[in-house]
Amino acid sequence: MAKRILICEFHEETDTFNPEIAQLISFDSGIHAEGEELLLKHRSIPSLFHGIVDAVEEAGGEVVPGISLYSGSAGVVADDVYNLLIERTDHYLKNSGELDGVFLSLHGATVTESINDACGNYIEHIRNIIGRDKVIAAGFDLHANITDRILENADAVCLYQTYPHVDFYETGYRAGKMGMRIIAGEPVVMAATTLPVLVPPSGFTSLESPFKEVIDYGNSLIKDGKILDYSASYVQPWLDIDEIGSTVVVLAEDGDTACRYADDIAEKLFAIKDDCWPDMMSVDEIIDLAEAKETKKPVILADPADSPNGGAVGDSIVVALRLFERGSTLKAGMFVKDPETVEQAFSVGVGNTALFRIGGKITPDVPGPLVAEGRVRLLSDGEFVQEGPAGKGFPCNVGRACVISVGNTDIMVCEKPMSSGDPQILRHFGIEPKLYDLIVVKANTSFRVPYGPIAGEICFADTPGAGASNLKRFKWKNLPKNMYPFDLEEGYKPVKATIR
Ligand SMILES: [Zn+2]
Repeated sequence: MAKRILICEFHEETDTFNPEIAQLISFDSGIHAEGEELLLKHRSIPSLFHGIVDAVEEAGGEVVPGISLYSGSAGVVADDVYNLLIERTDHYLKNSGELDGVFLSLHGATVTESINDACGNYIEHIRNIIGRDKVIAAGFDLHANITDRILENADAVCLYQTYPHVDFYETGYRAGKMGMRIIAGEPVVMAATTLPVLVPPSGFTSLESPFKEVIDYGNSLIKDGKILDYSASYVQPWLDIDEIGSTVVVLAEDGDTACRYADDIAEKLFAIKDDCWPDMMSVDEIIDLAEAKETKKPVILADPADSPNGGAVGDSIVVALRLFERGSTLKAGMFVKDPETVEQAFSVGVGNTALFRIGGKITPDVPGPLVAEGRVRLLSDGEFVQEGPAGKGFPCNVGRACVISVGNTDIMVCEKPMSSGDPQILRHFGIEPKLYDLIVVKANTSFRVPYGPIAGEICFADTPGAGASNLKRFKWKNLPKNMYPFDLEEGYKPVKATIR
């Protein structure tokens, strides 16, 4: 008889420094679906879920689609959302007949209002219902926080191996394949070790050394038939919680091999941590550079600390504030989230001037607002289409929007920014980046392709925000002791991997 596998999905990358709670609506605008509708949705996209489905079916298994709640990066998840996930998962566990396993598509760095380790909690919940003899396999983001609870309750754990992430499907396929192997009674042993290491996502990529070498090494072990699978995580660092770390997982046919290579990879990952930080400049240094006008083309000030794509709010106004304080005459363009100011602009009307208080109202410890006379240049319903290349043709809606000019600075103000690395978030609103001296881009890596050709220079700013690369800017309250880059003891050696 075909092995029957229930597949569920829960995906949100939490930034605990983002003060806005992620409600069900942010999952509704991602994926919120169940049963056949969910399966149909995933069959048309190269998703992690789709990879699991194909691996199960290739092994002769039968897929039972459950529930998916999928959102992008945001703040802490509302308890209501997690309760819905549990309630609907329980429904499928109870009413799906005999199951041989539950396979999961997860992010892995997800915090709810009540639970720091939502994915571990979810897996443990399922384990308690289905018992020890059924198989749980799960695919995760590379930035997952793989906790003890996850490792104790899952039989196979597989993370993305690319950053920027391009292997969603492949990761699901790996997890599905490992799960089906275990069900078939073939030997699969999982070993793992966790490094007390936080590095900012803007500081490394699998396309370049040194992180690429770790990934290349893992891939070579699989190619040479030494191991079945590996994962090497640098956890998403904006989680102020008491259990957090970067984890290496290896699956092999025997325990000794799994442990040996997990130790090997962990040592390499630990050794490169100092080289995984971005080069950053102060906002003033970047303004100086733009004012010198030697680059001929616009200076792009990248502000990943406030990137909505990365889980931050998008309400920072620090660059406009500095331009204003300096009395700079640079022609500058940017966007900011500020629903209050949008409301005011609509009542002031196009072409009219008023005293505005723009941005800096939501994220704690970010200066602002900018209090200044501004002229309303444009009002908009906020709908635009991405130019890409990533997400080309994808429809976006930033809510109601306006453009306010303060001196030579044009600020697109909107209710809920999205696709912040795509130039259309400015261009569509009449801020043509090519025509400006300085453009603020609130994104991590996505913007490089469209902005590269028009940029005189791309500079990463050391700014505050819920996604700041400079991790020492935050007031950490809950982190465990002995954590890099804060207080890791001199001469620390990674803990030896153990079988999980
Ligand atoms: Zn990620």
